[in-house]
Amino acid sequence: MSPQRLSHIPPSFLITLPQGLLELDIADRIYVDPDTTTRFSTDFGRLTRAPPSAVLYPSSPDDIAALVRFSYFSLHPFTVAARGCGHSVRGQALAPGGVVVDMPSLGRGRDDRINVSRGDGSSFWYVDVGGEQLWIDVLHETLKHGLAPRSWTDYLHLTVGGTLSNAGVSGQAFRHGPQISNVYELEVVTGKGEMMICSHNENPALFYGVLGGLGQLGIITRARIAVEPAPERVRWARLIYTDFVSFTRDQELLISMSEEGFDYVEGSLLMMDHSLIGNWRSSFFSDRDWEKVKLLASQFGAIYCLEGAVYYELATASSVDQKLDSFLKQLSFVPGFAFAKDVSYMAFLDRVHDGEMKLRSMGLWDVPHPWLNIFVPKSRIRDFEIGVFKGILKPNNSMGPVLIYPLKKNKWDEKMSAVIPDEEIFYSIGLLRSAIMGDWEHLDDQNDEILRFCHREGIEYKQYLPHYTAQTDWMKHFGLKWNVFVDLKRRYDPKLVLSPGHRIFTSSL
Ligand code: FAD
Repeated sequence: MSPQRLSHIPPSFLITLPQGLLELDIADRIYVDPDTTTRFSTDFGRLTRAPPSAVLYPSSPDDIAALVRFSYFSLHPFTVAARGCGHSVRGQALAPGGVVVDMPSLGRGRDDRINVSRGDGSSFWYVDVGGEQLWIDVLHETLKHGLAPRSWTDYLHLTVGGTLSNAGVSGQAFRHGPQISNVYELEVVTGKGEMMICSHNENPALFYGVLGGLGQLGIITRARIAVEPAPERVRWARLIYTDFVSFTRDQELLISMSEEGFDYVEGSLLMMDHSLIGNWRSSFFSDRDWEKVKLLASQFGAIYCLEGAVYYELATASSVDQKLDSFLKQLSFVPGFAFAKDVSYMAFLDRVHDGEMKLRSMGLWDVPHPWLNIFVPKSRIRDFEIGVFKGILKPNNSMGPVLIYPLKKNKWDEKMSAVIPDEEIFYSIGLLRSAIMGDWEHLDDQNDEILRFCHREGIEYKQYLPHYTAQTDWMKHFGLKWNVFVDLKRRYDPKLVLSPGHRIFTSSL
């Protein structure tokens, strides 16, 4: 690994502990020992390493507010990063030389941080959850009431604050929007250390700014999230295509259907690397079916897998096959290559965890992850396929799942900080790569090549879970939202205390 490609910071910077920090009332919850700071110096990506000076294990949101306030009023403010599970891949949850806040501490040993309630005088329900909570725990708790949030991520062992700082997308987002479109209210600690409540009506600028705001404006300590009656079962289907045009046409058909259609639509590229690493996200195929799919992939080099799901109640089980068949009749997958499975709603939503367990058992989870996630406008998805799937990736292999699925712009709120392409339909492309031999540079070079290809061809993509090192790139990323974002930063985090790992604001405003 070449050291100059890692984001190291000068050692002299690291040993400077913010003055007065250990005299605060919260000092007994601040750890400065090298074991602790080393643990908080990298993330799931393992591409970036930069230790903080200290780590705060907060016992309440007030502890976080006290820390941020102390920094804000210091002569030399230090940076503070909330860290959910550190599932970022480019150091976004790091605070080089500053203080990392271990968000899960807020909920440790407590069972009052997820509360399901009914809206005043109405029939709608919501759940109030601590920003540190994992989505899997939110699911477990809401299911006790027969309810569940409606928009998810593929993997549920992520924190609520972490995904709401990005967007939170999965196969339900075409219908319900990303997770950020399903929030009623937030409690936030701003970069001045103020605790504020915000919603569509109360402090709306902060509310919209924080959602998709990459942790730049505030630390989410509570979110009020929409829930609805949870389905009991899921008929989960995978359909194989050898032709990209039919694959995307069918995906777009499925997301254009009404509420009566599929409840979840995703898709992926299956390449010649049939190893577990390319398909860790879930166990789906039987050994026999997998052999059949692999044979087809070896004939065509790369094939596409449309993944859809229909939710249902046990009481309507008798009609679900009929419903699925009526959808399948409209689609153009390879005859004989439709596979279906029946699982509980919980098993369906938590499907990626199985893959995680398998990779962990093989020592393949804690490896470098040079992931690239981008949103590509529908009008250019075919060019992307030819240039990237059939071009850049073809002679290599994907070294991990490659996700491809369409989303709808009208399900995103323009006022929120998250950025998407300016087209009614755009594709979420995720190259979720694992460098199992530690050799991540060539995969990262390939990611750069993909981005260069998009620039050259004028494909107006947007990075999701973005990573840039120059402010000019961030300005381009935010586009028309940049000025508003800078104004909000001036208002809520004028001393640039929060979330330094993104490197959006590196000099004073
Ligand atoms: P961290 O990585 O710890 O933090 C992420 C960012 O948010 C940092 O900038 C941090 O400072 C900030 N932050 C953390 N907590 C808070 C808070 N409470 N308030 C304000 N800012 C905060 N994403 C999807 O959208 N869809 C997916 O299907 C999906 N699948 C994934 C699968 C895997 C295996 C992994 C590793 C990631 C996946 N992600 C997915 C990406 C995920 O959304 C991001 O990693 C996200 O950052 C959440 O991770 P985290 O909770 O560990 O946050």
